[in-house]
Amino acid sequence: MIRGSFHNHTIHSDGRLTPEQLLLKYKLKKFTHLSVTDHDNAGAYRELKSLASAMGLTLITGLEFSTQFRNFPECHLIGLGINTDDPALREYENEILTGRKNRAEAIVKKMRELGVHPDLDTLGELYTNPSIGRPHIAAILIKHGLVRTVQDGFRMYLNPGKPLYIRKHQWTADRVISFIHSLGGKAILAHPADQFSPENADELVGYGLDGVEVIHPMNRLKYAKVWRDYAQKNRLIISGGADFHGIEKSEDRAIGRYYLEGQDVRNLLNALEN
Ligand code: AMP
Ligand code: MN
Ligand code: MN
Ligand code: MN
Repeated sequence: MIRGSFHNHTIHSDGRLTPEQLLLKYKLKKFTHLSVTDHDNAGAYRELKSLASAMGLTLITGLEFSTQFRNFPECHLIGLGINTDDPALREYENEILTGRKNRAEAIVKKMRELGVHPDLDTLGELYTNPSIGRPHIAAILIKHGLVRTVQDGFRMYLNPGKPLYIRKHQWTADRVISFIHSLGGKAILAHPADQFSPENADELVGYGLDGVEVIHPMNRLKYAKVWRDYAQKNRLIISGGADFHGIEKSEDRAIGRYYLEGQDVRNLLNALEN
């Protein structure tokens, strides 16, 4: 049986496992196909390609882009099957990861105003990550006793409108869709049920969106059907995965629940070839 997961994170963004540990985890769960989709960079692939074939896993390249779409706080697009060696991607990474680093510095400054003074080791660790995100900031809030969980960190400090929220530099969704195509990949709307309705996804389809994530922990059963119907109606690729970060224990269960199998995987692979 073929079984694939096309949305996962590693220490190259806000995940906790190394690419190698992630591959091993999926191998042990009898997966045949896997994508690592770190935020705004493909660093994992620079250490991963030979490893995957050694483990007998088929690796599909991927990257999760944070984009600007209308006034939505978030619009995440996954580029699948992209050429991760393209110099244009390196340029994108330089620009966006620098933006993430600048935002982190600005958030740390605000944190100090709130009376939190992270030590040099903590800051060193923070700035070592190539793709610094709010979950890393949440970890510092936990360390300093302001909140107990990453969830609470977002709810109380990091979501839009909260004291430590700062918008990050990102490209528009239409620009990212064209960029993914120029890298030879397909653009998939990540976790659509988070905030999108089929009506507002239509505009993205107009920009050339190729697929939607039907299987995702945020898509409860009802929404999985809504988005599968939407994909079929618009002849879009059906994708899916656990959006695994390895932060919460419950995520291990998600790996066994949110995946693509059989014909869905074959259709996705065929679509990536064209
Ligand atoms: P950033 O890319 O820095 O804006 O951070 C966004 C990331 O934070 C997402 O990719 C999720 O992994 C994580 N995230 C977003 N909202 C929450 C939440 N409410 N609780 C825990 N993690 C979250
Ligand atoms: Mn994330
Ligand atoms: Mn996302
Ligand atoms: Mn993700």
